[in-house]
Amino acid sequence: MSAKHLASCIFCKIIKGDIPSFKLVETELSFSFLDIGPLSKGHALVIPKYHAEKMHQLPDEYLADAMPIAKKIVLALGDGAENYNILQNNGRLAHQEVDHVHFHVIPKTSKEEGLS
Ligand code: 5GP
Ligand code: ZN
Repeated sequence: MSAKHLASCIFCKIIKGDIPSFKLVETELSFSFLDIGPLSKGHALVIPKYHAEKMHQLPDEYLADAMPIAKKIVLALGDGAENYNILQNNGRLAHQEVDHVHFHVIPKTSKEEGLS
């Protein structure tokens, strides 16, 4: 499956380097970086290098590449890997703001920060 990009998409621009990001892990099929509006310290996003709006529109090979990266990010947290959320929103009613599939990796280091 060849990569597919949408010129107007901010996450496609991040993949291409047209918008700067704090990159964490990159593979042939995926890119991960720190969220610009973190819900907690270390809040990261894993995105496929393929423009699909929602998870069910993504080719399986991109889906399969994303989770091991989320796992790698969690393991890199060390002690922070005890408590975390993996979150993936699809559609406005489900709180999706950026229409390019993304997986949130949200460490929880205290009761006060992150998702409740
Ligand atoms: P959603 O609500 O769509 O699941 O989450 C979108 C996430 O993308 C938000 O947590 C938001 O902070 C993050 N985000 C939006 N624009 C940018 C950006 O330009 N750079 C980075 N690093 N994160 C972004
Ligand atoms: Zn895109």
